[in-house]
Amino acid sequence: MLEQEKNYDVLVIGGGIAGIESALKLGDMGYKILLVEKDATVGGHMILLSKVFPTLDCSACITTPKVSEIARHPNVTIITISEVQEIEKLGEKRFSAKILEHPRYVKENLCTGCQECERVCPSYTDDQYQLSQVARKAVYIPFDIASPRIALIDIENCILCGACEKVCAPEAIDFTQEEIITEIEVKSVVVATGFQLFDPTIIERYGYGKYKNVVTSMQMERQLAPTRPFNTVMRPQDAKVPDNIAYVLCTGSRDNRVGTPICSQICCMYSTKQSQLLMGALPMADVSIYYLHIRAFGKGFCEFYQQTVGMGVEFIKGKVGKITEKPNGNLILRYEDIETGKVKETEHDMVVLSVGVLANPEITKVFTKQKLEIDPYSYIHQSDELANPAKTSIDGVFVSGTASGPMDIPDSIMSAATAASGTSNYIKH
Ligand code: SF4
Ligand code: SF4
Repeated sequence: MLEQEKNYDVLVIGGGIAGIESALKLGDMGYKILLVEKDATVGGHMILLSKVFPTLDCSACITTPKVSEIARHPNVTIITISEVQEIEKLGEKRFSAKILEHPRYVKENLCTGCQECERVCPSYTDDQYQLSQVARKAVYIPFDIASPRIALIDIENCILCGACEKVCAPEAIDFTQEEIITEIEVKSVVVATGFQLFDPTIIERYGYGKYKNVVTSMQMERQLAPTRPFNTVMRPQDAKVPDNIAYVLCTGSRDNRVGTPICSQICCMYSTKQSQLLMGALPMADVSIYYLHIRAFGKGFCEFYQQTVGMGVEFIKGKVGKITEKPNGNLILRYEDIETGKVKETEHDMVVLSVGVLANPEITKVFTKQKLEIDPYSYIHQSDELANPAKTSIDGVFVSGTASGPMDIPDSIMSAATAASGTSNYIKH
């Protein structure tokens, strides 16, 4: 919950890795930061990943020290389950912002994170942090390394039985909590609202949502992560450990028909990474990657791709037209072999759609009076991309990470540092 303080130097919107990095850098410079996160935990997409490419470092091992550092930083205040409703520029280095805090129905200062409430709650729903592959309770802590590690009640799925209230020793459950709107003033704003994942149900011919053994790359990522829902990789229909897995690259990227003409920049490499992890997790499995072009442009990426080829992952230059299901749940991929021009079919027992990223332009609506412009792809427009890439159309508002376009983790962190230095310069001069 927001403290009594109503004046901060910088409002950072978004608690993913870019927002965290910008807030940490600015906090270290001595600025007072308010970081607003819409979700129940900071860490964004990165905290949910297994390993990062091309080094195969553990993603959570990089994220969690930053998450705990920011949680303890004396200059940074974090509020979760909160949204910025309105921002108005009042003058040079003066913005007013309305912040809406949704009720958690748990008193943050009393909850110890013991999860007793979660144990007794009788109401189940899909666990969004495990991409709906398992269930969670109506009262829950998002995942083991969530920050803050405080329970919340998903009131939509709560049956108001009161079981959680009875077992909560510190009496932290509070059904009387309501929304709170607070108005604050800041000198500058950093937009770090990140990206959304492409919804593959839009491409009906791939059968996502219809064929259970067609999953997204993020669902596979969770199956490979240390905080994974199962102790192995399994296909959803029958829990069979797959021995023949296909990846379909460019699902929802570089495709004008679904409104995303640009490259998502990360799918080639995260699929290559996942294929290596799969070979480690399931040594007997065959992994095939159907691609149009492999874009391995970063430092060490090409070598990582070549290493993956050397490990036996099959890369097939082919455009997948359609996926159909056999009665046993196996999937037939019909594709054009680009090398020969022939249409071919192959059978796999699990298919992973390497979904692309989309812009998240909702944030532009909160700016009143002055317009936060977007580019032709709906990402935040960088008004001086070469000389000052974090600058936006509103003087004093900076963009950090994938809010300005698709990028990988190292580039997001560099972008976050650029946003922090742009913000500091703006406040000082
Ligand atoms: S709400 Fe109560 S029971 Fe639930 S985790 Fe917090 S302290 Fe434990
Ligand atoms: S009151 Fe709601 S959250 Fe608490 S145990 Fe019952 S269903 Fe679960």
